[in-house]
Amino acid sequence: MDDKQNLQILKEFPMLIPQNRTFSTFNGFVVAGGEDFHVYIDLPNPPSVRGMVFFCQLKLRWFLDSCKSDLQEWENSGISLLEFLIRLKNLIAVGIQHGKLEKCESSSHMENLIEKIQFYSRLIKEVQSSQWKEEISIEDGSSREFNEIQLRFYKKDEFDRVHTALVKFESATSCPLIIADLPSQVELTVSKGMTASQMYEKFVEAVDRLQDFWNLVDDIDESCWVIDPEQPKRKDSYRRIIIGTNVSLYLSIDPLDPHKRPDITFIGSERTVMPFRNSLQENLEQWDSIGVNIVSSLTRLLGLQELPSKPSDEAGSLGAIEQGECSICLCLRLDDGLLPSEVCNNALCAVPFHAACLFVWLQSFPTSHQNFNRLYGECPNCNSAISCPILS
Ligand SMILES: [Zn+2]
Ligand SMILES: [Zn+2]
Repeated sequence: MDDKQNLQILKEFPMLIPQNRTFSTFNGFVVAGGEDFHVYIDLPNPPSVRGMVFFCQLKLRWFLDSCKSDLQEWENSGISLLEFLIRLKNLIAVGIQHGKLEKCESSSHMENLIEKIQFYSRLIKEVQSSQWKEEISIEDGSSREFNEIQLRFYKKDEFDRVHTALVKFESATSCPLIIADLPSQVELTVSKGMTASQMYEKFVEAVDRLQDFWNLVDDIDESCWVIDPEQPKRKDSYRRIIIGTNVSLYLSIDPLDPHKRPDITFIGSERTVMPFRNSLQENLEQWDSIGVNIVSSLTRLLGLQELPSKPSDEAGSLGAIEQGECSICLCLRLDDGLLPSEVCNNALCAVPFHAACLFVWLQSFPTSHQNFNRLYGECPNCNSAISCPILS
């Protein structure tokens, strides 16, 4: 359908809200003779009004029934919706002038609704005439009271990753809220009075800024055996990867400076971790902060030929994961998705525990004692000394 005509409808009838991108269904008000009339229009053949469905409030219906032949003729001649609305507006204005249509009293509910519709209408008009109209969609206007107006942003980056964001408007006057799958380190705020295009541009700016970061974590996800997060989201800036039997490491990456050496924490028994920790300390200066390949930098740092990759068969990966189950709750993941992170340092035991499970366990023994921010006691499995962080 003709964009120009759609824009014209938005301009001439700002209170009449299109319910879809094809401009075939409308809900809202026609303003005529200083009055607002609630109407609902559905066009089977947009922009023509042939075969249209037209609902309106009773008072207007009575009046229009008296001009049925005019309306019938307009419909049969297949004029455009814009033309129809202009004629309808004039018809109503004349009706009011001649006292055929009484003025109705406005209610606060109606005023409230009108305010929302005006806001919604402005939003549509702005998006429709913006250069981002393919990337921004307006949602939930079809709810009768226009209570949940939302914008959805879409952006495909140069590496074919798709990013979306949602802007929620509580009311026409409150500050909108933007929700996007971005790391928390990236501040993305929108403010009242910003246009939809301005908000979209802010979102794209943030996405552009994170390209290096996402390239880097995509590299890790592709080449390493990542066990946490189970299904990484775009906002996740950490990865726990397996580097050997019963030993993994936790990488915390700065999304705003992804080539900086990440924070590395080893998870495993002292015995399994030691060689990796030593190698890391020896090779620390070798971290190539300009190098784009984090996987090879990491491999070199750990003194490995290559990092273990995820077994392609389910059994292989399940087998390895079974070894990592918490010895207290016998589960791999807690409800919040956390994996075991504490390991008994007795080489003959070396069983893993969730920090939370071990904390509860140690707390239940009067012999356990606290030192700084750790709780010390005995391993539930072998009675060797073990400790865990104190959880609040
Ligand atoms: Zn547990
Ligand atoms: Zn033990």
